[in-house]
Amino acid sequence: MADTTLTWLGHAAFRLDTASGKRIYIDPFLNGNPKCPANEQTPERVDIIALTHGHGDHVGDTVDLAKKHGATVFALVELAGWLGKHGVDEGKLQASNKGGTVDVDGVKFTLTSAFHSGSGPDGSYVGEPSGIVVTTEDGKTLYFAGDTCMFGDMALIGRVYKPDVAILPIGDYYTMGPKEAAVAVELLGVKRIVPCHWGTFGLLTGTPEALEKLAPSGVTIEKLQPGDSVTV
Ligand SMILES: [Zn+2]
Repeated sequence: MADTTLTWLGHAAFRLDTASGKRIYIDPFLNGNPKCPANEQTPERVDIIALTHGHGDHVGDTVDLAKKHGATVFALVELAGWLGKHGVDEGKLQASNKGGTVDVDGVKFTLTSAFHSGSGPDGSYVGEPSGIVVTTEDGKTLYFAGDTCMFGDMALIGRVYKPDVAILPIGDYYTMGPKEAAVAVELLGVKRIVPCHWGTFGLLTGTPEALEKLAPSGVTIEKLQPGDSVTV
């Protein structure tokens, strides 16, 4: 098997290539994302799309990508319903809710809590925002916090899922910044962090360096630029 590779596409968009060759996009805000590398804006293959919530900077290109590639889309029930009404094949929707685990072709997805506001790209109700725990076929576990502030129950996510890497928003203003993210790292008990939702726009001022100064010792803060990958 190859490695499991996580590639940051700017903002909160990621491509996850699993060891057995599945290509998963999380929150694929590609076109219109000022930090998405040009060579990543038109994916050649999409097997699965997983969404944390309905805001436009997370749903992004989901409808077009799902239609073009016949991708399976994993999302909370109300958001999945919205996607079905906007062109995603209902047979390709994996609608779930918080706490339940769904197996999509050997990759497991679990929605967690997140504290944020929620609406679809058109302002309609699409359920509550969430985080996502992804466990790959070879047992690598990634926790995508989604857009959120810190919250005490991150300790439960750490306890139950023991993520190998946590993908945390650090930009401040719309989500937690480095100060809260440092506490999130401690609560999760995770040793490796990929920061996101920073630097996209001028308001998102948090930086990986600021988080590194505040995070517990022994934790690796990956300082990715859009387009960079890490092996999980
Ligand atoms: Zn956002």
